[in-house]
Amino acid sequence: MQKRVQIESRKVQTVYAPLATSSLTIHSRATSQSQSQNNTIKVIQKQPKIRNRSLITRHIKQKQIFSQTDTCTNKVLTERNLEIDCSLMEPSTTTSIQQSQLVWQSPYRPHVYTIYFPYPQMLQQTRSQQFLVEQIKKPLYYKLQGQVPFKCILSAFEAAGFERSDEENWLIYWGIASKETLKEMKKYQKTNHFPGCWSVGRKDNLWIHLSKVKRKFPTEYYFIPNTYLLQYDFERFEGVRECAPKKTLWIKKPVASARGNGIKLINKKTKLTADKRYLVMDYISNPHLINNFKYDLRVYVLITSIDPLRVYMYKDGLVRFATQEYSLKSSDIKKRFIHLTNFSVNKQSPNFIANNQDMEQQVKASKWSHKEYKQQLIAQVLKTCIAAEPLLLDRNGKTSEHKNNYFELFGFDILIDETLKPWLLEVNVSPSLNSASELDAQIKTQLISDMLHLIGIEYYYKKAFRIQIKKRLFERNINEIQSINSRNFRQKVNQADLDVMIQSLEEQLRLGQFKCLYPNKQNIFEYEQYFEYPRFHNKLIQKYFEDGSNWII
Ligand code: ADP
Repeated sequence: MQKRVQIESRKVQTVYAPLATSSLTIHSRATSQSQSQNNTIKVIQKQPKIRNRSLITRHIKQKQIFSQTDTCTNKVLTERNLEIDCSLMEPSTTTSIQQSQLVWQSPYRPHVYTIYFPYPQMLQQTRSQQFLVEQIKKPLYYKLQGQVPFKCILSAFEAAGFERSDEENWLIYWGIASKETLKEMKKYQKTNHFPGCWSVGRKDNLWIHLSKVKRKFPTEYYFIPNTYLLQYDFERFEGVRECAPKKTLWIKKPVASARGNGIKLINKKTKLTADKRYLVMDYISNPHLINNFKYDLRVYVLITSIDPLRVYMYKDGLVRFATQEYSLKSSDIKKRFIHLTNFSVNKQSPNFIANNQDMEQQVKASKWSHKEYKQQLIAQVLKTCIAAEPLLLDRNGKTSEHKNNYFELFGFDILIDETLKPWLLEVNVSPSLNSASELDAQIKTQLISDMLHLIGIEYYYKKAFRIQIKKRLFERNINEIQSINSRNFRQKVNQADLDVMIQSLEEQLRLGQFKCLYPNKQNIFEYEQYFEYPRFHNKLIQKYFEDGSNWII
């Protein structure tokens, strides 16, 4: 096994490290050539090759040996065939062995390592240790755009050994990156917004995209209340309003706003103008109530790739309650604590009950944890993501050179009516990560830690990135897919295609509390019809599932 490390003096030395012994012996083999400036040290460990699955044991052994050794003067690599980019490491003049950290090693591509995010201590939980190996410790940096970061983000980064940086040496950028930053992103860097995400987050855009698919599949896309964009649909809405039964209500909202700002209930008599800043939506006047209170669900949805589409839903979320009992009396339609379930609205209510540790109080609290509704929601979430796919893909394709730079956590707001039918009210980009209570902190800290683990921030080193997968490799003929099978796929599928498939499989091994909605063997065929355009990689993954045999190993 050969290891390469660089030392400050840049002399060549070869180091033999017998693994089964308790000390690391270093033999210097200085040659005339080795005196030159550009040479490296090689650490050669006499150890038989061990297959991937036994790596943990092997690495633990290595660690023991290294910890007993304090004579080595240089940075030593503890993983086989790994070339570290030493420019990312701090220079060392001391003789100590570099510390190691845990990373996740792909069982499909042994040269791919992603950063392991242990759960922050406050969660008192341990993440699965499967596929972990130790790796030489390197500085890991995240960059934050301006704002004061939320505690759950900070603690997830801290637990994984990340530090904040204002330089360009970051692996992950949290915030809204400038166009220049997006353009210059390296393959191994990631940021938490897709370039087109803001369009999906606007209420008017969501309706435009969903209603387009709804026209094609009226019974399938039933789940978003009828919406009228006042700029375009004012007259049509006035016609509908005139014919509606006497006590009908609608809800008027700013097209691009959040936290309940500017939202009002309207009835047949309310004066309206064709104001382009607003839309009107059918009001779901028969919400399911718990203890007579209206509530809605905040569901967290993660997209890690648009082409191919990869969608995950978090198993836990929040149930957010109104703080005044539900009523449809006309004298009550102005009462926001009855009709709106936003946390930011209801925390101002005199009836608001904060979450705390007391379970009796917890039952009455204005936010509940939920897991029960998830089955009903999956279809709704997935259909919404598929409807938004063309929009996201369009912007994404124009912005950066690489395929895996982005991920996005959306907050879906769902209202359940008294027949237990779920309605999608809105998709939030940048859902609040503020931890206003213990319950918030628990759910959001685990959510962020799971998300950062799942997206797979690659542990950068030169060799793995030698083959830069550029976008142009992905322009492929979709008709080729039909003839691909387990016997011929090596000839028909290039490395880039294969990597895309493997990334989907790898993410499935780092799920934490996320559930994979797409691509999913159980539903991938059913959802094919909802895509506006068929995409090569979605189809390829579908073909892989259809074939049933394992092409990868
Ligand atoms: P915001 O982005 O400002 O939070 P939402 O669309 O999420 O706006 O609406 C805020 C709240 O208003 C929701 O959480 C829900 O309680 C209520 N609401 C919104 N739309 C409807 C609707 N169509 N029917 C019933 N209640 C609604």
